Amino acid sequence: MYRRIFAEYEIVFVVRYKYVICIVCFFTLIVFDAWLSEELWHSAQPDSRNVLDAVWEDIVYFPIPESSFDKKGYSVSYTDSFMQSRSYGGERFHEGCDIMAGINERGHYPVVSVSDGCVEKMGWLKLGGYRVGIRSPNGVYFYYAHLSDYAPELICGMEVKAGDLLGFMGDTGYSEVEGTTGQFPVHLHFGIYLNEADGEEKSYDPYPFLQELEGHKLEFYYE
Ligand SMILES: [Zn+2]
Repeated sequence: MYRRIFAEYEIVFVVRYKYVICIVCFFTLIVFDAWLSEELWHSAQPDSRNVLDAVWEDIVYFPIPESSFDKKGYSVSYTDSFMQSRSYGGERFHEGCDIMAGINERGHYPVVSVSDGCVEKMGWLKLGGYRVGIRSPNGVYFYYAHLSDYAPELICGMEVKAGDLLGFMGDTGYSEVEGTTGQFPVHLHFGIYLNEADGEEKSYDPYPFLQELEGHKLEFYYE
């Protein structure tokens, strides 16, 4: 008896307020759909903001110090060339930023570490020539390629501080033959790599970080 009365009351309620119920259901669905889309979108995205926080925290100095001898004459330049196409060694994308020497002379411009860290890799690479890789405290891998020479006493495993000399800008690389030079103008190829949550290494555009470091250049005496 009680159940029947209640059921009838329910039916009357539904009939009387059917439009209101429809509208409420409709908006509930919209809100739920928006929430679900947002959740799915976020779960599909790498957490790039947090990942890049590691880079922002670790960078201290621009990789090429200014010359106290002649700031303008010995300046360097760069554009955002990240992910431009490259063909040497097969079709690929440019995973870094090229800092070009104002004076096309190998061994002239010092290259310093942008961060504290540990020298993880050194030696010859077919693409990068003489390169050095520094692993920073937050796990960022800073890659410096095409060096003409290494800093004296720089060895794998040693700790470096931001601003420490790593070597000199050059034009080594683009050859299986160690020591090859002259395949392109003198420049520093600067790369930034981070390990994703799944352990895969991914490169990030160094350009915005270099721009930030424009105001943080060391001054060395070189002519
Ligand atoms: Zn490059």
